[in-house]
Amino acid sequence: MKKKLSIVYDITKRCPWNCAICCMGASSDKAVCGDEPLLSEKLQMIDNIAQVRRMRDVRIDFSGGEIFTNMDHVQVIEHAASLLGRENIGISTSGYRVDDTLAKQLSACVSECEMTMDTVPDCEYPLRPKGYASAAAKALPYLKKYGITTGIQTVLARSNCNEKMLRDMYGWICSHEVDNWSLLKFYPSGRGAAYQEEKLTKEEELWAVRYITEMNDENLSVHKSQIDFHYTMEGHKKYTAECRCVKKSIGILPNGDVTACFWAVDACTGIIDTKFRLGNLREQQLTDIISGKEALYWLNCSHHCELGAA
Ligand code: SF4
Ligand code: SF4
Repeated sequence: MKKKLSIVYDITKRCPWNCAICCMGASSDKAVCGDEPLLSEKLQMIDNIAQVRRMRDVRIDFSGGEIFTNMDHVQVIEHAASLLGRENIGISTSGYRVDDTLAKQLSACVSECEMTMDTVPDCEYPLRPKGYASAAAKALPYLKKYGITTGIQTVLARSNCNEKMLRDMYGWICSHEVDNWSLLKFYPSGRGAAYQEEKLTKEEELWAVRYITEMNDENLSVHKSQIDFHYTMEGHKKYTAECRCVKKSIGILPNGDVTACFWAVDACTGIIDTKFRLGNLREQQLTDIISGKEALYWLNCSHHCELGAA
């Protein structure tokens, strides 16, 4: 078996939500799509990615921005599934435009859909716009109906990392039979760089992992959601400070730039440091990019997280 390469493809910068903490600087303004490839180029980029299967197994998670601000993206996802297999395709969406028709169409080409909810629906939350969590809640039953594995991702920040909010979220996740609950700590990248005070301390991070683990252990139900802490969070068995850049994952930005880490992005969706920029998919083959000298920096020795996230 070949070593798997997990690719997060941020297919667009456009997003209706304009979240204050957006990790990649997405915006509802159509002008942000100015440097995005055309549909035909996006399809070619998928062909380009698929060539990597000669060297590595490949999984693509489509993200954004919000994927479904442009419904052409369904064709891009379908094309990726036709080349890589449905089981290797995931999407991250806010739930925007996900209804019965779209969920049915996606079920043929997407195995997993992850949506972000930092609070239960209808809870006011300063870091997200009104209605944000409700969009995911509305989409969830459609995705479940058509057999797509569902995930809710919660970004833990100072503003939601307390007993009441975590217990409410856990109750919501269980009662709505979400398959996976993934916990990620807020990392101040993109527009989120202006919210340093929302970053958890190591002690808060450890507390959150312990609190959620204990809450889940107390739940004796046989139908529990799977809980998954991000590898950069301390206090659980999957924690590691060893960097995954290129060895395990890469990111592709809306303009085709390939980044070693999708968190190494500024508020204008630019790569923060040249050492993270591996190349561009519109100009180069991904097979060359992941074996080029920029990639070798990440492949040839083990690194601790160079962003200080882990
Ligand atoms: S954080 Fe996600 S939902 Fe919010 S603006 Fe950015 S891409 Fe859109
Ligand atoms: S730089 Fe840090 S956050 Fe990025 S892949 Fe490496 S360990 Fe993960």
